[in-house]
Amino acid sequence: MSTAARAADPAVVPERLQDRMYHDDPWIPRDVVEVRERAREVCMRDLAPLAPAIAAGDEVEDGFPWAAFRALGAAGLYAIPFPAPLGPGLEHPAMATTAATEEIAYVSNSMAGVYDGQCILSGQTIAQAAAAVRDRWLPKLVTGEVVASFATTEPEASSDLRPESIATRAERVPGGLRIVGRKRFITNSVVADVVAALVRTGERELSFVLVPLKDTPGVRVGRADRKMGNRGQVTADIVFDGVEIPEDHVIGEPGQGLRMALRTLVYGRLGVAAAGVGMAQAALDLAVSHLQERRLFGRRLGEFQHWQFRMAEHATHIECARTLYLKAAARLDAGAAFPEPEAAMAKWYATSMSVDVVRDCLQVFGGYGFVRELAEGGRHYALEALYRDAKIGEIYEGANEIQKWVIARTLLGRDLTG
Ligand SMILES: Cc1cc2nc3c(=O)[nH]c(=O)nc-3n(C[C@H](O)[C@H](O)[C@H](O)COP(=O)(O)OP(=O)(O)OC[C@H]3O[C@@H](n4cnc5c(N)ncnc54)[C@H](O)[C@@H]3O)c2cc1C
Repeated sequence: MSTAARAADPAVVPERLQDRMYHDDPWIPRDVVEVRERAREVCMRDLAPLAPAIAAGDEVEDGFPWAAFRALGAAGLYAIPFPAPLGPGLEHPAMATTAATEEIAYVSNSMAGVYDGQCILSGQTIAQAAAAVRDRWLPKLVTGEVVASFATTEPEASSDLRPESIATRAERVPGGLRIVGRKRFITNSVVADVVAALVRTGERELSFVLVPLKDTPGVRVGRADRKMGNRGQVTADIVFDGVEIPEDHVIGEPGQGLRMALRTLVYGRLGVAAAGVGMAQAALDLAVSHLQERRLFGRRLGEFQHWQFRMAEHATHIECARTLYLKAAARLDAGAAFPEPEAAMAKWYATSMSVDVVRDCLQVFGGYGFVRELAEGGRHYALEALYRDAKIGEIYEGANEIQKWVIARTLLGRDLTG
């Protein structure tokens, strides 16, 4: 069977080169390897058949990818980061969660974004809420019965989350808080039951609040944004127009919102780094398979040393990026609140690497890399979607310039870098 047909036939998947090229021994813990194996099984069985339609969909027309979302919930993947009895109580939850994210992104970066929004960003924030609030939402969040969003971004603020930049305000009213403002690009919000939102609670003070979204007076969720890629990661604005919440819906310490956001975003960034690795690996696996079979000038394409060297470089970059995000996650698991500079290095390196690797692997496919669906035979090709999906990794959860700033700060000191 030709590679074009192999890549198109959902029953035939290219070799998982990770298994041959990346060695877990001596340092990847057993619990992480087991989670990765389970996540891979679920993704290949339940997610892979849905992924092409998710990647090519239109947010407004197709809406939220419910079937895929529920499949991840039914398989217990949203529970991975949590301690028992909510989750499996793993010894290395961050390593396992990011390894699972890589597996999801290998099949669908949209769903990796949905997953990150659900159980990393929202889940880790809601876990810090008062017991009654937490217990109302978290058990259903980990099963996927509840969809959750995490909202820091606003029309005029995202990279810059200083209190003076945040326009969404929460003011004290008898019995609680009243919120006015707008959040932008909020993943999962079109269907979400609940959002953890960063709001201004004083002149120089930010706090996290939990807002139930369904049937709450003053809440309006906008229409889905139409995007270049990650179309199954549906985003929209959330508008708070005098929304009132009880006092116990402030999450964590009042005034600690910025620190909480930055801490949670570090975890999320490791998920984004892992997703970059997953996409790069998917592209490499497809490209190597094509190089082994496509014939040009009487030779197989892989016989050209140009491509041998390119693929050798990409395989090495993927190894570096995977090791880097797992090392940063290992530091998180060991108790480092801010595992820098590794986390920033991992996010920047893995996401820019994935854009480069996917672009080059698309080139290997020639015209077939540019095609989504071939009219004759109706075959589907994955590279086009990988190319569109990879780009967002360089932008969200801290643009890569922010990551380089964090690294430079460690190198040169805040005196110089600010
Ligand atoms: C698909 C998608 C999903 C998203 N999901 C969520 C979500 O669930 N929740 C949420 O709160 N937000 C979400 N976002 C928002 C996302 O996190 C922001 O888009 C991102 O942080 C960048 O912010 P911005 O778009 O406002 O760009 P800006 O903050 O205006 O930045 C623009 C550019 O400026 C550059 N830049 C930034 N800082 C520096 C610096 N210090 N030095 C030099 N250059 C710099 C970067 O290149 C950056 O891309 C999502 C966005 C998308 C597209």
